[in-house]
Amino acid sequence: MEDRTHTLSRRAVLKRGGLVALATFSAPALLTACGSKKKALECNDTSGLSAGEKQGRDALKYVDKSTMPNKNCLNCGLYKAPAKAGECGGCTILKGPIHPEGYCTGWSPKAG
Ligand code: SF4
Repeated sequence: MEDRTHTLSRRAVLKRGGLVALATFSAPALLTACGSKKKALECNDTSGLSAGEKQGRDALKYVDKSTMPNKNCLNCGLYKAPAKAGECGGCTILKGPIHPEGYCTGWSPKAG
């Protein structure tokens, strides 16, 4: 006669072991996947600007992502680099945060 208690016990142990292994290997992978997703830089927060300053951005059609070939804020002579890499910069003629890949109709090539 087969010893079913021993078989079930071994099966239960294997099942639990599998769950533990799954949890052990899946949790860090999930945490890494969630944690490594870096949020894209956005420079559209104009909440600190006056109505006139917002109008200036609108008038020059500022956008966070340039659609103009070879023209963006980073290669514009009026761009002011941020203090820390990965942050929004500024602009000589527009108030508020400026994305390095942004663009407006005031674009002017860098001198030199
Ligand atoms: Fe960007 Fe326009 Fe300012 Fe040039 S003038 S840095 S294109 S917002």
